[in-house]
Amino acid sequence: METRPLIDPFQRPVTYLRLSVTDRCDFRCSYCMSEEMTFLPKKELLSLEELDRMASAFISLGVRKLRITGGEPLVRRDILSFFRAMKRHLDSGALDELTLTTNGSQLDRFAGELADAGVRRVNISLDTLDPDKFAGITRRGRLDKVLRGLDAAQEAGLRIKINAVALKGFNEDELFSLTDWCARRGLDLTWIEVMPMGDMGEEDRLGQYWPLSDLRDRLAERYTLTPLAERTGGPARYVRLEQTGQKVGFITPLSHNFCESCNRVRMTCTGELYMCLGQEDRADLRAPLRAHPDDDAALVAAIREAISHKPKGHDFDYSRERADGQMSRHMSHTGG
Ligand code: SAM
Ligand code: SF4
Repeated sequence: METRPLIDPFQRPVTYLRLSVTDRCDFRCSYCMSEEMTFLPKKELLSLEELDRMASAFISLGVRKLRITGGEPLVRRDILSFFRAMKRHLDSGALDELTLTTNGSQLDRFAGELADAGVRRVNISLDTLDPDKFAGITRRGRLDKVLRGLDAAQEAGLRIKINAVALKGFNEDELFSLTDWCARRGLDLTWIEVMPMGDMGEEDRLGQYWPLSDLRDRLAERYTLTPLAERTGGPARYVRLEQTGQKVGFITPLSHNFCESCNRVRMTCTGELYMCLGQEDRADLRAPLRAHPDDDAALVAAIREAISHKPKGHDFDYSRERADGQMSRHMSHTGG
């Protein structure tokens, strides 16, 4: 099998795969899912063996960072066996990093095993430190359980980054308390601008929109912000707060300022590959995977074909306060 690295038409190497392993979740965050979700039939999902083949094919083509996401990845049954299997790619040196994005609800059970599988860092989504607000925004989550998970992850030696979605009228008043809490616990903090995903009502999307430019200005009223050169090939920008030494990130997925260095693709739990966060263009990789259970040549050819369609940039537009550019898919589908 030919293992030339994946380079897209704009000469960007594709080295980062974000892989969703389930569309299910134990939370129903209001900006992400509707209260009554219909989840996919299980047979639509890639099996754990298929996830292994898929991830391994990308790794053989030069992907060096694998992020597992969902839905909530840790509610997928026996997902730890998949993490343990991926450790072989870390051990061989083919993969630099195996990581995940989680709501933290299952980390008290799994943090130790994740560390044993070679996970070194984890992103935990946490929008508020107020138990009632937390229960409200997640509709069914419990803050104390997530905080126990966070403790377990720190005890297991995992480095933690907190991801908080910036929501107008919801966590604006926690800007400083969340920042201070992260500083005390040695956690990085990244703010995410809310995106027009799924079928949220127009009112919800635009009413909750808190531009990170405003958040950043408010942070600068209390701290000296030094921009950091660090780039991850994605939409995050970082600053250091000089007073605490802490790193704070800003993810503005609606901006175009990162497309030139884009190094990533996203796969849904059904094996659809999205070449760009902001565009609907996708390739079905489950069909070639299932059609040839013992041979990855067709899968690899389909991956190459898909990457040859990776677009130059994306296509959101919020500024006209209409649904232009709105994505019809949920973040839980492509994993954020
Ligand atoms: N369940 C896991 C979690 O919550 O971390 C992983 C999947 S979740 C879809 C990945 C990330 O997407 C989370 O940090 C979540 O806050 C973010 N997210 C979901 N919907 C979003 C939206 N409409 N705008 C911005 N971020 C969103
Ligand atoms: Fe679940 Fe994560 Fe979506 Fe919240 S953001 S509903 S935790 S997938």
